[in-house]
Amino acid sequence: MKEENCIFCKIANGEIPSKTIYEDEEFRVILDLAPAAKGHALILPKNHYSNLFQLPEEKAKNAIVLAKKLGARMVEKLNADGFNLMQNNGEAAGQTVFHFHMHLIPRYKDDNQKINWEPGTPTGEELEEIQKQIVE
Ligand code: 5GP
Ligand code: ZN
Repeated sequence: MKEENCIFCKIANGEIPSKTIYEDEEFRVILDLAPAAKGHALILPKNHYSNLFQLPEEKAKNAIVLAKKLGARMVEKLNADGFNLMQNNGEAAGQTVFHFHMHLIPRYKDDNQKINWEPGTPTGEELEEIQKQIVE
């Protein structure tokens, strides 16, 4: 289950070298080439899934468990003060490489990095309408 022209398929399967910080049968975890902060890593499944919708549930579970372990390890080893776990699905959501991946971003009190959004100001009625749209 590899995709011919997918760079992350090639990296995950070792055809293109990467700075690997973890590997098992299902996943390779590499350092991002354009990190948001020191230690920014990407969890890549070795098989090709374009996004979270395609990722089988069992792999999704394993990916989160791995993120939990590596997040704790990076905080300890890099002396980070916390970390963000991010995962983008679709161009509108900022996805640029269409092979599922999770960003593990160690954060430091003085890193001056922004991983943020402009907070909205919906009314109570608007929130209720959205709630209905999703639940019903
Ligand atoms: P997305 O925007 O799709 O969630 O994230 C893609 C990430 O992959 C970006 O943070 C980008 O810096 C990283 N990236 C893109 N190409 C490569 C590559 O060839 N090697 C590595 N290590 N990271 C890459
Ligand atoms: Zn791929």
